[in-house]
Amino acid sequence: MKMKIPFVDLQPEHRLLRREIDGAIGTVIDNGQFVLGEQVEEFESAFAAYCDSRFCVGVSSGTAALHLALLASGVGRGDEVITVPNTFVATVEAIIYTGATPVFVDVDSRTANMDVGKIGVTISSKTKAIVPVHLYGQFADMLPIASIAEANGISVIEDACQAHGAGYADSKTFRIARPGSFNNIACFSFYPSKNLGAFGDGGAIVTSNESLYDMAVWLRNHGQVEKNHSHFVGFNYRLDSLQASVLSVKLPHVNGWNGQRQTVADLYDTLLLSTKLEPLETMHYVQYHSHHLYVAVAPTQSYRDGLRTHLSGKGISTGIHYPIPIHMQRGFSSLGYKAGDFPVAEKLGITIISLPIYPSLSEEQVKYVVSSIREFEND
Ligand SMILES: *Cc1c(COP(=O)(O)O)cnc(C)c1O
Repeated sequence: MKMKIPFVDLQPEHRLLRREIDGAIGTVIDNGQFVLGEQVEEFESAFAAYCDSRFCVGVSSGTAALHLALLASGVGRGDEVITVPNTFVATVEAIIYTGATPVFVDVDSRTANMDVGKIGVTISSKTKAIVPVHLYGQFADMLPIASIAEANGISVIEDACQAHGAGYADSKTFRIARPGSFNNIACFSFYPSKNLGAFGDGGAIVTSNESLYDMAVWLRNHGQVEKNHSHFVGFNYRLDSLQASVLSVKLPHVNGWNGQRQTVADLYDTLLLSTKLEPLETMHYVQYHSHHLYVAVAPTQSYRDGLRTHLSGKGISTGIHYPIPIHMQRGFSSLGYKAGDFPVAEKLGITIISLPIYPSLSEEQVKYVVSSIREFEND
């Protein structure tokens, strides 16, 4: 029996909420305010509360959120910003937009997240910020990152674009920390396939720091501190009301959906024990993993590539996030890195595979994926 399993399918969630979404969109049309305005403010308050942060600034994309967060943190020409090479390209683009230079650190092979032990040697007198990425929805190890930042007087900007609802067990405060709660700023994307997705592009910044918040609010709307008074050269990075109204309908469901993703991930973790695929580890400090993606490591590149072809033949779509680290991308060659500079990230790029994961993925479907993997190994 052959099943068709797409890589991601969020239509069941949309069907469930369709009437509510239609109503919310209708309200925006009736109000006639399509950019910023009431619906955006409502969503911003709800999302700030969801993140245990004082403030949220709705913006036009995750990329815009990163760019504004860096600028609000004072990053600019001549500065260096530390981040990882295995991320979505937007993380690094945003750093370059500010005029600063990205400086990469390699990642931990167990998690594919920033190797905090390697940050120290990359810090120089020019370092202005660290951008940890909570890759696949797993928190980077924030306590050591925050303490390195504090000791060196530099900012932390979290790329939480895959980490809606993620939680970090803060062993200092005994609280669950959310992105943006280390006296810093976190960036989210609401690209349609993210754990909380709009019906188009969207993003947000969350922070509890009022001056970072003010700066982000001004910069997203042409640097205007009040209408027609541009105190800065800003951007058009505004969130529109239609997106905000859809996001407000979906937000109360995100934790439930993440719970369903967790169930899928747990089942994969167990069933994959009978295969040669090794799931990435979830670290002890991860209280909530948002499981934006489910990533496992293959023994070799040829195994990985052969498996993807086999699964595709069985109707199962898979992905690679991400096959080419940024330091090896042609468009980033002027940064001066070369193959071999970040061996862990490079090895991951040729051996990782992302298996289908989404809230409505059933136990039967997960079992079909894993039995198809076993079938590949026994061929
Ligand atoms: C999606 C994503 C972004 C960019 O978000 P956009 O909304 O597409 O601009 C940045 N970083 C990471 C890690 C992402 O997954």
